[in-house]
Amino acid sequence: MALFCIRFGQKSPLTLSRLLYQRSIPHSCRSTNPGFLSSDLRSDARFSTKSLIDHKRLSVHVRQVPVFCPAFSDHVKKFHTSEKLQAPPAVVLWLLVKPLQKITAIILGRSIRKWWKALPPKKKQLFREWAWQRRWHLTGVSTVVLLFMALFCFTHMEESPLTGRSRFLVFSRDNFIKLSEHASEMYLEEFEDLLIPENDPRHQVVVRVVQHLADRNQDIEEFKSVPWTVHVIEKPIANAYVMPNGRIFVFTGMLELVGDIHQLSIILGHEMAHALIGHAAEQASLSHLLDLLSMILLTMIWAICPRDSLALLAQWIQGKLVEFSLNRPYSRKLEAEADQVGLQLAAKACVDVRAGPVVWQKMELFEQIAGEPTLPEWCSTHPSHRTRISNLDHLVPEAIELRARCGCPAFTDPDPRVVFAKVAQLLLEDNEKQKNKAKESKERERAEGTQHTLLSKKEMEPAA
Ligand SMILES: [Zn+2]
Repeated sequence: MALFCIRFGQKSPLTLSRLLYQRSIPHSCRSTNPGFLSSDLRSDARFSTKSLIDHKRLSVHVRQVPVFCPAFSDHVKKFHTSEKLQAPPAVVLWLLVKPLQKITAIILGRSIRKWWKALPPKKKQLFREWAWQRRWHLTGVSTVVLLFMALFCFTHMEESPLTGRSRFLVFSRDNFIKLSEHASEMYLEEFEDLLIPENDPRHQVVVRVVQHLADRNQDIEEFKSVPWTVHVIEKPIANAYVMPNGRIFVFTGMLELVGDIHQLSIILGHEMAHALIGHAAEQASLSHLLDLLSMILLTMIWAICPRDSLALLAQWIQGKLVEFSLNRPYSRKLEAEADQVGLQLAAKACVDVRAGPVVWQKMELFEQIAGEPTLPEWCSTHPSHRTRISNLDHLVPEAIELRARCGCPAFTDPDPRVVFAKVAQLLLEDNEKQKNKAKESKERERAEGTQHTLLSKKEMEPAA
């Protein structure tokens, strides 16, 4: 399991938390606390943080208006006809049994193969005849099993809150909130010495942005019920994530990466969207289903392959196929959904939504400057920066409309995408110049070194 996170399209090494996002059900779409804006984020209110770029004082200008945003105001249809698996016990049991499933399938498949090999030819022939005579019974049993599985999937389909997407769910929100308590404790223990104090301006900025997003999205039930808690970790990595129980972890590297409060809101909106939609429960459910199917496949692989080495190879291929054809594309889909919902949450909070694509432009640029290798999108758990920029660019007009419907003031600043494109060009040119300079300097040093060696050799030669 791994975390959904913003960090350069990679997963966190701490894997337990993939499961730990909650499900939610949206209510009407009424922002109930516009007063927060007048008292805390009005035009003359400014936050500052020493770690943000250029140590600038940052500000958000938001007008106090009552807001009614119909964008999320649909009922949630549920297709459940049976109860979901109940509880922490179900999830905990699954977590415990999960590693054993593979081993059991391997042992079972291998035993079948050994048993078959040890069978005398006459008995093998008898067994084949027995199977052929009962072929219709066996087909019937297989069909019933398949139908049962299809029915199980169908009865556990649910419409995703906020986006209305149909999805497979077997674990409930409460399971993941309880599990996330334990994972949060683990994180807090791990980062105990790195947590910055609550009176630090960087911590306060994150708290204010989270509070602002929550206050402007009170029409979503989970925003009311989740007690959002902020933890800022002093570590130079560009990462942030939110647990289903509302604990938000932000690394200072991320605060240094974002240029202003709008970009920070986009990032936090994305992370909170994961929690609100319940992506952790969804991924755990998919994983549960794939594990069951993998068990059948693995048993067949180890039973059919004549040698262990071949079975191992087939198992490796099967694992990679599942990973690259199902898990990763699904993960990218959820990331794209969190981008979309996060942008809408930010729009309702009167954030400059044009900052959305800028966040990813910035990440792309920094990777380019750092010379980091870029993974092809098909083998990544996150969409490529280019895809995210393009998707968000496509969603910005709709978000601007939502923003206007929520009574937010029109933009007065220039489009940050245009501004950043110019900055990026300058940075790339500067980077290229520096690279050339460094190259020339190295070549000069090498030439001087060669000359020096030649001179020394000449001096060492005995006079004729
Ligand atoms: Zn994410």
